[in-house]
Amino acid sequence: MKKLKEYEEEVYKCSRCGLCQSVCPVYKASLNECAVSRGKFNILNGIIKGELSFTKRVKTYLDLCTGCNACKDFCPSNINAKEIFTAAKAEYYNICKISFTERILNSYTLFKLLLLCARIGLRLCRLFKLDKVVKYFEKYLIKTGYIGKRIVLFNSLAIKHFKPGYKKNEGKKAKTAIYFEGCFNKYINSETKDAVVQILADSDIEFVTKNFECCGVSYLNDGNLKKFTALINKNIKQLNTDFDYIVTDCASCEDVLKQYKDYSNDNKSAELSAKTISITELLKSVKFKTLKPLKVSVHKPCHDSYDFIEIVKNIEGIKFIQTEDFDKCCGFSGKFALQNQEISREISKQKAQNYINSATDFIITTCPACLLGLNQGLAEISCNNKPSAINLFVFIAKYCRPVKD
Ligand code: SF4
Ligand code: SF4
Repeated sequence: MKKLKEYEEEVYKCSRCGLCQSVCPVYKASLNECAVSRGKFNILNGIIKGELSFTKRVKTYLDLCTGCNACKDFCPSNINAKEIFTAAKAEYYNICKISFTERILNSYTLFKLLLLCARIGLRLCRLFKLDKVVKYFEKYLIKTGYIGKRIVLFNSLAIKHFKPGYKKNEGKKAKTAIYFEGCFNKYINSETKDAVVQILADSDIEFVTKNFECCGVSYLNDGNLKKFTALINKNIKQLNTDFDYIVTDCASCEDVLKQYKDYSNDNKSAELSAKTISITELLKSVKFKTLKPLKVSVHKPCHDSYDFIEIVKNIEGIKFIQTEDFDKCCGFSGKFALQNQEISREISKQKAQNYINSATDFIITTCPACLLGLNQGLAEISCNNKPSAINLFVFIAKYCRPVKD
């Protein structure tokens, strides 16, 4: 990875035209000039020239970014802002003393402990049918304010869309795929793995699971490369058998796994990056139809391509609803949602309102963090007939069947 100084020319290329303001979700929700690329480049220019130095405050401004890349796609100078911010944050971690709060926020052990607690909490919710009670009183809870909205958000994770009912095809398979589940699916959305296995039960692919750690997306985005490379090393140790693919159903995991080769010299990292594919790749040739007519819309994660939308559009029996800003950031981006809660909730709320206005039944997406973002937005709005945010594979497994030729 390049050092901040090596981006000097690119930072200088910013003409201060301000066009990035019109696409930056954080700027639109906060109207803070430091949130937009132009504002951050002003600060980084000062640092590169030696007129400013890294402080916690500078890091706070750099953290005002979901990493959505919208500014890169829109910038007339084609500046890769996210990459530059990551290099700047990596420098911050090298130079500055990290505060106790930052250590806590960066603790991987604590992150896993939180996921484990969430999993236990969600299971208890289901066991005692609290999810149904909360769903019943959802409208009133939202009106009570912050705590009520957070309860509704938590409860949205407890609601199971799908119970697996597949029969595993035990015949010899032509290819071996190692399944990279991702931590949200592993601890919270376990139905996603069941859905993927059901959809691909008849394919010629043997699925193998390993005990992977988190892909490291939030450490990479945060520029905390020490923690990120530690996770790469743990994950590549799991690759002790032959395999044809690493498959993942999470757009963010896919994006990060493909970058492992850039942060590690181990040949296994290069192999992992080269063999990583999305499960949507395996579904491109399969046709599905719904069990009943359904209105669906999509949310395109910032790190996914538009390919999965074609799969959705090709499902027989759906009415595809084109929703405004379907490809704009959902506002939930790891640590960003914790550090900038109000902005994150505002971005998610605007997204959710668009889907409610479009009167769709489902919002289909391919990233577990985006599911949280969409549910966070839906938990901000009290109304009848809200759509359900759902993972693409869970939607197919529950509501569709393959069309046989
Ligand atoms: S759009 Fe690009 S060139 Fe224009 S202000 Fe933003 S970062 Fe600078
Ligand atoms: S990557 Fe997205 S959130 Fe970050 S500055 Fe660019 S447009 Fe704003």
